[in-house]
Amino acid sequence: MNDSVRRAAAILLLILGGVALWWAGNAAPASASANDAMRATIVAVREPAAVNDPRLKGASRFEEGGWIYVHLEGDPGAMGFQHGYLLAPEIADGFAAVSAGMTHSTQRDWEFFRKAAHEMLWPKIDAEYQQELQGIVEGLRARSGSKLDVDDIVAFNAFEELPDYYVPWLNKQLRAANAPNLKSPGNCSAFVATGSWTKDGQIVMAHNNWTSYRNGERWRIVFDIAPKNGYRMLMDGFPGVIASDDDFGINSNGLMVTETTITQFEGWDPKGQAEFVRARKALQYAGSIDEYTKIMLDGNNGGYANDWLLGDRKTGEIAQLELGLKAYKLWRTKDGVLSGSNWARDPQVLKVDAPEFDPADKESSPNARRVRWDELLKENKGKIDVGLAEKMLGDHMDTAEKKEDANERTLCGHVDGSARGVKEWAWDAHYPGGAVQGKATDATMTKEMRFVARMGHPCGGDFLAKPFLAAHPEFAWEEPYLRDMKAGPWTEFQSGQAAKK
Ligand SMILES: [Zn+2]
Repeated sequence: MNDSVRRAAAILLLILGGVALWWAGNAAPASASANDAMRATIVAVREPAAVNDPRLKGASRFEEGGWIYVHLEGDPGAMGFQHGYLLAPEIADGFAAVSAGMTHSTQRDWEFFRKAAHEMLWPKIDAEYQQELQGIVEGLRARSGSKLDVDDIVAFNAFEELPDYYVPWLNKQLRAANAPNLKSPGNCSAFVATGSWTKDGQIVMAHNNWTSYRNGERWRIVFDIAPKNGYRMLMDGFPGVIASDDDFGINSNGLMVTETTITQFEGWDPKGQAEFVRARKALQYAGSIDEYTKIMLDGNNGGYANDWLLGDRKTGEIAQLELGLKAYKLWRTKDGVLSGSNWARDPQVLKVDAPEFDPADKESSPNARRVRWDELLKENKGKIDVGLAEKMLGDHMDTAEKKEDANERTLCGHVDGSARGVKEWAWDAHYPGGAVQGKATDATMTKEMRFVARMGHPCGGDFLAKPFLAAHPEFAWEEPYLRDMKAGPWTEFQSGQAAKK
């Protein structure tokens, strides 16, 4: 529908709605059908009224290559409203899948997470992000009449930190008997390179997102955010969540950001600020590696603890911020490469924040991928560019078996294909998870606010839900949420982009 047709349809609905209201008001006695007409009128009127909401000014959405590109702009409340309104169907769908996963793995009900969001997280969220989260609720309501409230949306935004960081910490505090086996997640393979390592001597950054296919197939938003305060941002993300969360983003002051999580991390500070808030704030306000580090450290709650891989295209410098809770370490260089595949390397961080992790086990997913990154990046020293990065993200060399075999030890992860699973993340044999999408960019592209992204396995392989569930009935509980994850093409996105005609 083009704009004028949409407007005409809206006006027609308003007129019909008025007639129906008049009819309903005059019909006597009031009948069930009159009530139905009234209800239909309310539903019909809601959409055109919201379309004219001034908060939607400047916002837009289009789909390409399996991704949904959303442009948000303005003050925090307006950006939230745009987010909730434009992505209402995807937020409802994503919320259902994510909340089902959170309650299933923790054996806690949804009310538990709402309470944690309301009492522990909300009071420490900066006012501008409180407004943005509230805006999402209002946008959702305006578009679809959603019943989700701000506690639901805050708990949902914390889906990477509440179930796998807060709950295990709480179970330990409570000495909970029969507590479920919860492990911090192992999300992603990534690298950032600069200087003599790359083809043009400037920064190249790439990342693939590892998570359950159930969540990952919904991680398909490209957010182009032009906030009233702070820098312009381009990032991938999840519908309804204000941070990239997997994370891959660039800002208009030249900062390039990605990460991989720290395997077997333990710890939580209930007095700290939610990670999703700090991560979003750092991408929005940091213009340097030092500023980024400062924002992430300020109020660190230990949630979703990551090895952050950073680049500053203005200086050509890259950095790794290994952000534990009790310890952290920052490495930086203008000539080198830093990779991540869910392992911590600072002895102090390992000792105090991830004591169970075994860096010597060459057969574990994080360590086998670490070896592969070392090989692949060394082999390609001086040649690394975005095209090569795309291929690396789809790599299937298993360094433990020393052969090609798409499984839990390959940079492009296919844990469904492995009878070993990943015990360090409590992923059972054939767990439906692995690399769900990939992104890459370089310094030149970042200057122009561009990156490339591929939805689905970065190698181009498809995951098909029906045959998987037939072969693995132990995952039947995922059936209502698990879908096919078919790979799209590598697709370029840019800030301010309009839909291709
Ligand atoms: Zn693959």
